[in-house]
Amino acid sequence: MTLFDLSERVAVVTGGNGGIGLGMAKGLAAAGAAVVLAARNAAKGEAAAAELAASGARSAFISFDVADESSCRELIEKTVVRFGRLDILINNAGTSIRKPPEDYTAAEWHTVLGTNLTGALFCSQAAYPVMKKAGGGKIINIGSMFSIFGSGYAAAYAASKGALVQLTKSLAVAWAKDNIQVNAVLPGWIDTELTRAARRQVVGLHDRVLARTPAGRWGVPEDLAGIAAFLAAPASDFVTGAAIPVDGGFSSMGM
Ligand code: NDP
Repeated sequence: MTLFDLSERVAVVTGGNGGIGLGMAKGLAAAGAAVVLAARNAAKGEAAAAELAASGARSAFISFDVADESSCRELIEKTVVRFGRLDILINNAGTSIRKPPEDYTAAEWHTVLGTNLTGALFCSQAAYPVMKKAGGGKIINIGSMFSIFGSGYAAAYAASKGALVQLTKSLAVAWAKDNIQVNAVLPGWIDTELTRAARRQVVGLHDRVLARTPAGRWGVPEDLAGIAAFLAAPASDFVTGAAIPVDGGFSSMGM
């Protein structure tokens, strides 16, 4: 039984041109999958795809905007045209606007919810008929510690990531009959462009994270490679609707 073999599988990782997305893409590629990296910044995307290819993986970058429903549909169509199938979708593209909740404009709120939550639904909707026809698939949604905890400076982000876990459970329930497993990963504090911006904006964040994380360090994108490979592989075929922290113990610590 090939518990962790992804060699015949094709994956799409949204927001895969850097950070956590690329870290997870490396996990899928190491297990043998062909990986499409999808995001807006093409220069970063082509460089990331070249990095995967240099390690021997089949990979490509496809430019898309997760907030645009037709762009999500085109991403899935282009993937199937290019690689012949789609087995794994990682909804990882995400953004945050940090400010007190009383200051959000409607546009800012919708940008964050549209990117982090609605875009995951659009991509999943586009992937569903392809996976269903093939007899199964894996969808992995990237939540956050703010799927669990509140945030005084990122209410829109926390709302989107909390809702993403509920979307995960709902898709898991709806699509179990089609042999599609849908799970969420909740990363702790990982060193990426997103959190570098947060550290510039939120005074003392770097040290508070260190003090609050039992593992005693910030995570790196490659810390997410293993969970991505597991949730994409036959090893997790009876795991669905779960929200799994990968956080160095952050969510287990009370004080
Ligand atoms: P990055 O900023 O490196 O990654 C964000 C990714 O999302 C980029 O690839 C970006 O690419 C893409 N993206 C943003 N908006 C869009 C859009 N409209 N269309 C397509 N792609 C888009 O940060 P991270 O790696 O940290 O974040 C990745 C995910 O992990 C996010 O969902 C984030 O919320 C989540 N996360 C991060 C944590 C951390 O500590 N770093 C902790 C918990 C969760 P581009 O701009 O080129 O489009």
